Amino acid sequence: MTDDHRLDDHRRDGADATAGSDLLCISPHTDDAEIACGGTLARFAAQGRRVWLLDLTRGELGSNGTPDERWAEAARASAALGVAGRLQAALPDGFVSAERPEHVAAVAAVIRSLRPRWLLAAPVPRRHPDHLAIPALVRKAAFMARLAAWPAALPELRAWPATAAIPPPAPLWICEAVLTVCAPGERPQLYVDVTASWPAKLAALRCYATQLERAEGARPTVINEPAFLEQVERWSRAWGFQAGVPLAEAFATEQAPLLTDLPAERWV
Ligand SMILES: [Zn+2]
Repeated sequence: MTDDHRLDDHRRDGADATAGSDLLCISPHTDDAEIACGGTLARFAAQGRRVWLLDLTRGELGSNGTPDERWAEAARASAALGVAGRLQAALPDGFVSAERPEHVAAVAAVIRSLRPRWLLAAPVPRRHPDHLAIPALVRKAAFMARLAAWPAALPELRAWPATAAIPPPAPLWICEAVLTVCAPGERPQLYVDVTASWPAKLAALRCYATQLERAEGARPTVINEPAFLEQVERWSRAWGFQAGVPLAEAFATEQAPLLTDLPAERWV
């Protein structure tokens, strides 16, 4: 028997099956998750899944908006998405890294507390160094969260006021799937139909006035460019075209599902 099999048994037999979350989406800054996969988060939340968000930094290096202004926007966006909880750590904006053990520990400790079935690494586009770092950091933290011999203390966190109670950390946790949001041109392994949840995604995005609106005096950025939201919709229309639905979000993973029957889902 391999270590993995023993760990799988632990997960199935644990007393923690009702604690935590179904899906945890991890990103460096408020608004990243909504831009990248807000339709997926809103869709799964509307279907009763316990969806959580973890922002790793307070966005203190942002070109516009203070960390507190951005956190207030994130609170309104969380309500628009209908998620169960949102947490924000205080890792250094601009310097998030899979090579720093304390950053891996921060993510792993939240995973052990929330016990998600699925992990999503959110941000696109990936030009920002924190966006580049996130997929590797999330994959590493997901693996390290399995290792009971590796202690990981919960980092300093602030919680969106409507957040459900945070369960105490389990000694270890195994996520079923670790997925990364696809950037344009990448090859997805799965699509989520977000046609029905697109209005909730747009409502969440409209909460981020300091980031997505080029108000007078605001520093110009890629995402407060007036055409940016149209670009976000074009990405989802392109994924939707490939998936045969009006609007989709797309994800990649290094894993593959183990089937026991022909699945109900449609292949595209
Ligand atoms: Zn970002």
